[in-house]
Amino acid sequence: ARGGDGVSLVRVEALTKHFPVRVGFAGHARVHAVDGVDLSIEEGETFGLVGESGSGKSTLGRCILRLLAPTSGRIWFGEEELTALRGERLRKTRLRLQIVFQNPMASLDPRMRAGQTIAEPLRVHRKLTAEEARGRVAELLRRVGLHPEVADKYPHELSGGQCQRIAVARALALEPRFIVLDEPTSSLDVSVQAQIVNLLKELQKDLGLTYLFITHDLALVSYLADRVGVMYLGKLMEVGGAVDVLQRGQHPYTMALRNAVPLPDPERARTHAPLKGEIPSALEPPSGCRFRTRCPWARERCALEEPPLREVGKTWVACHFIEEIQREVTT
Ligand code: ADP
Ligand code: MG
Repeated sequence: ARGGDGVSLVRVEALTKHFPVRVGFAGHARVHAVDGVDLSIEEGETFGLVGESGSGKSTLGRCILRLLAPTSGRIWFGEEELTALRGERLRKTRLRLQIVFQNPMASLDPRMRAGQTIAEPLRVHRKLTAEEARGRVAELLRRVGLHPEVADKYPHELSGGQCQRIAVARALALEPRFIVLDEPTSSLDVSVQAQIVNLLKELQKDLGLTYLFITHDLALVSYLADRVGVMYLGKLMEVGGAVDVLQRGQHPYTMALRNAVPLPDPERARTHAPLKGEIPSALEPPSGCRFRTRCPWARERCALEEPPLREVGKTWVACHFIEEIQREVTT
């Protein structure tokens, strides 16, 4: 469910990640970072994951890569259930899934030259010698649009954009099929952002990669993604084709997010209520529909019953009253 029509490469079923935390004096609570997410990402596509900060996007991405152990739920990569793999099998399979983080300066080791950074996975997992890795490093540098001489530089000698290209080259070193891109351009200047985004697009086309692209930037995701999921407090509120969600998304939260992007469209301002208030604490998410405390259409049932994702028109929407709301905003 919630997939397009292609072959799914990554499948997530009822995924939950709670972080136990201490509160106050000897108190315990759980952060509901991801709370029952179903998702299918197809071979070769870019799945965009959007939502405000704190909605659980990074946690979901990290769980898929098994950088975090899910609290419950299952994850498949092709035919293999990642959540059932252990030891060597898990280690091997996991190499086909990689991640690129937001801040390249922070994710690169400041004491390692760029070439060493890219060669490291080759040396550890493919047992290549420094000599053997050298040619492959030069090739990877060229792939990400850098001169092979960059191999000798330290991160502080490189620009933010160059550092992010190095992080991408390192992620590509073991020929992954799937890459989680967690806000990969949000620490970069706007002009550099476009170059990195175009590089990612080109790499996807040339290497047949599948992406999970995490961002809070709707313009960016509309440029890159084939399908989009809108996340709010650990849950998916709407899933569908990128254009259907980003231009005609139906869920009140999707409409509010879209409305937060300043575009000169008075018509839209009339029909869509802006997002009010702050995102509630993930320690105690609202009962029923999590968005209800900020939703202009919320009523009693929304507090009592959690709305499941269901197919409504062109997208999947988690809202009890979506038909009514849509009738109201489009007339
Ligand atoms: P996003 O990437 O959408 O901004 P995150 O996945 O980073 O959201 O965070 C989701 C929620 O989980 C937030 O409330 C965040 O504070 C919390 N969280 C993330 N990592 C941890 C952790 N290691 N321990 C406790 N809470 C965490
Ligand atoms: Mg994040």
